[in-house]
Amino acid sequence: MTFSWTHHRFTGGSLALDVANSVILRFDDERRTDRFAIAAQRNAFAGAAATLSAERDNFGELAPVASEMASLFIALREAIDAFFRHRVRTGKDDSGMLATLLEAIAATLRRYPDEPSPCPVDLATARSALKLISQPEPDRLKICPNCEWLFVDRSKNRSRNWCDMTVCGNRAKARLHYRKKRKGGPQ
Ligand SMILES: [Zn+2]
Repeated sequence: MTFSWTHHRFTGGSLALDVANSVILRFDDERRTDRFAIAAQRNAFAGAAATLSAERDNFGELAPVASEMASLFIALREAIDAFFRHRVRTGKDDSGMLATLLEAIAATLRRYPDEPSPCPVDLATARSALKLISQPEPDRLKICPNCEWLFVDRSKNRSRNWCDMTVCGNRAKARLHYRKKRKGGPQ
């Protein structure tokens, strides 16, 4: 099956979270898939993010992460995931995780002393993460109960439960339906 960066993959509501969500089933050792492990997919992310990310207007056109920057970019992604996941789960910020994230952000910013145009994805991600650290409503940050992706709930009454209703919401509904049916049916 060929892979493509669809709208569903940009439901994080923040570029930093879309990047964190490039790991599918992060906590499932057998099915975990890193969409950035393949360079072509990582590179294609730039064009897709420029069109589909909720923050696209802040960045405009985006350039792929240079291959020599790839490992730093992955370290940044992992620091983003660890810090914000911990924030959602505990309601608190972990100083050590914050330090690791700030170091990854600083290391990325330092690599671009001149403002490159178009902006590389790693630089845009570092800026997006910095913004998200100090967002005024931290309780809008959520974890999808179906796929464990991180997302910002921008709905008016903060009622969004799923990263993407059309994907995770419907899957969860179907599972519930199946379970109910099985309960009532013959064993
Ligand atoms: Zn989900």
